[in-house]
Amino acid sequence: MPPGGRMPYEHKKVAPPKDFLDFFRYLKEVFGGFFTRFFYVVTLVWASGRWIMFLLSFIALFQGVTPILGSLISKNILNELQNVIRLGGLPASDFWTSPVLYFLIFFFSYQLLLRIVNNVSSALNQIAGEKVVQQVKVRIMEKSKNLDLASFDDSSFYERMENANREAGHRPLQILSETFGIVSTVIEFISYLLVLLSVPGLWWSAPVVVAISIPSAVINYIYRNKHFRYLRWRSKERRQMHYYSELLVDKDKVKEVRLFDLADTFIGRYLSVFRTYYVGLRRLIVQESALHIAIALLSCLTNFTFYALIALKVFTGDIMIGDYTLYTGAILSVANCVSTLINRSGSIYEGTLFIDNLISFLKEPCTVRSPKKPAALVRGIGHRVEFKNVSFRYPGTEKDVLKGLNFVLEPGQTMVLVGLNGAGKTTLIKLLTRLYDPTEGQILLDGVDLREYDLKDLYQMFGIIFQDFGKYAETVEENVRFGDIHRNADPDQMQSAIEQASAKEFVEALPEGMNTPLMRIFERNGIELSIGQWQKLAIARAFYSESDVLILDEPTPSLDPIAEQEIFHQFDQLREGKTTIFVSHRLSSATVADTVLVLENGKVEEMGHHDQLMAQKGKYYQLFTTQAERYRSAPDDKI
Ligand code: ADP
Repeated sequence: MPPGGRMPYEHKKVAPPKDFLDFFRYLKEVFGGFFTRFFYVVTLVWASGRWIMFLLSFIALFQGVTPILGSLISKNILNELQNVIRLGGLPASDFWTSPVLYFLIFFFSYQLLLRIVNNVSSALNQIAGEKVVQQVKVRIMEKSKNLDLASFDDSSFYERMENANREAGHRPLQILSETFGIVSTVIEFISYLLVLLSVPGLWWSAPVVVAISIPSAVINYIYRNKHFRYLRWRSKERRQMHYYSELLVDKDKVKEVRLFDLADTFIGRYLSVFRTYYVGLRRLIVQESALHIAIALLSCLTNFTFYALIALKVFTGDIMIGDYTLYTGAILSVANCVSTLINRSGSIYEGTLFIDNLISFLKEPCTVRSPKKPAALVRGIGHRVEFKNVSFRYPGTEKDVLKGLNFVLEPGQTMVLVGLNGAGKTTLIKLLTRLYDPTEGQILLDGVDLREYDLKDLYQMFGIIFQDFGKYAETVEENVRFGDIHRNADPDQMQSAIEQASAKEFVEALPEGMNTPLMRIFERNGIELSIGQWQKLAIARAFYSESDVLILDEPTPSLDPIAEQEIFHQFDQLREGKTTIFVSHRLSSATVADTVLVLENGKVEEMGHHDQLMAQKGKYYQLFTTQAERYRSAPDDKI
């Protein structure tokens, strides 16, 4: 892997053949892999619309045969005109019956057809492109829907997913049109090669022209690869440049940059990274141009020789002027076809790297999923939660974030989770809500392992407000309704959820009340809320969800103390025997809870009622008294 840069694609390497027999294995892997990917693209495009495949094949055949057709008609027109010149000219009236006119009609009918097909082809590519993008994007979204959250934590996987998502737009159709392009180029190549082979006394021009055009195409191909690898190698620098320019143009970041006067520093850093990136790129571009110039010299000399030899044949009367245009045109076309073929295979290869990426993303195994025969989940009761020897480690990390947790939360109880930052509180919530599965141990809900329940049923049972809760660029109403999208919108329930979340006052003050669009990403009249207001909406969403287990993860950062007290109070009122978990920095909430669980370094340090823990004079006592003291001097402080 290049230093500092990550691979945008991970491509499976095929081991080189060891002996002659092994060579067949090698061929099978290389070409088999190619055909698997190609077949995948075909199925993708087929699923987007069968007509796309039929039209693409028709256009490929048409575009393959038309160039030679055009050249042959032009040749005939010129030859007929030359015959007329030889005769010293003919009366104008003869023109209307001469073959020249018929060939011209034929030529322009052909031109018209060509233009129609080219336009259809370009329209087809645009329309099909949109359909294929939609097909790939939906596949990616459908896959992401069930993907383990753990996969998102794996940076190389995340990068693969981002690449798949970003390039979904053009790659699949590009591969397919390039492949059809190869079909038409091969037809064109063979037809012009046959023309060259038929040049009297100059059949050998065909292999020479082919041989001369190969180096230029190969250089093109090699340098494209070098370019690709260079960009990949410099991916760290490219991301840095992007980062520095973002700092100056991003709405959220620009405030601090202004106030600390950091703009020139970041522009300077951008320029310094750019220089590193640019030097190597410039070298590659210059090298490639120098090689192309050398080859251009060689090919011009060769072409000059053939043009001269063909002109000589016209000079001596062996061939006619129309033949001259046909043969010389064939020389250029054969050279072009060779380079197009090599370049097209290059871009198909590049495209298949993307397809590998997409296929591996879509094949990513999901472990957090519903069992075949899920256990019945009784709703509308207070549930019993039990952690049995639960440990957890984030994928790709070395450290257990939770270590052998054992505790029980009886139905209808309230538990407050307490612990310093990084103690593992949010992780515990993520395990309880089965966003992740424990690495060891079991979490039981009403005596049954969480993994035995249907995932959708389970998720519906939780009303949760995460620290990084969702903010949706929709109306206020939708932001609340998303708490239970499967239920018909219930305005009364929404209103009461808004009231319970202490959001009524600010929602009523909004220009369109519940119908006010939020955020200004899409709507000019969208309203930007404060973080505390957003959080109240998130709380209203949880209240609207009619869940059995309520979870509030650290509300304090964005809520003022009065609002927090109000919400705790509401939570308490609303619980109606529901099992409730708070993760809170403000320990005042712990005084009313049935149980306080003190987490330290992923372990249960203490557990019990507030009074009990205070009497123990342990960790909780220490945290509580420290905070109480600070509270007296600065009421809005945290642990
Ligand atoms: P708390 O909620 O108590 O502040 P967290 O549960 O968020 O703590 O985090 C516990 C530990 O797990 C921290 O050390 C944090 O760095 C680590 N951690 C959290 N999320 C991830 C993740 N997605 N990947 C790796 N480590 C993580």
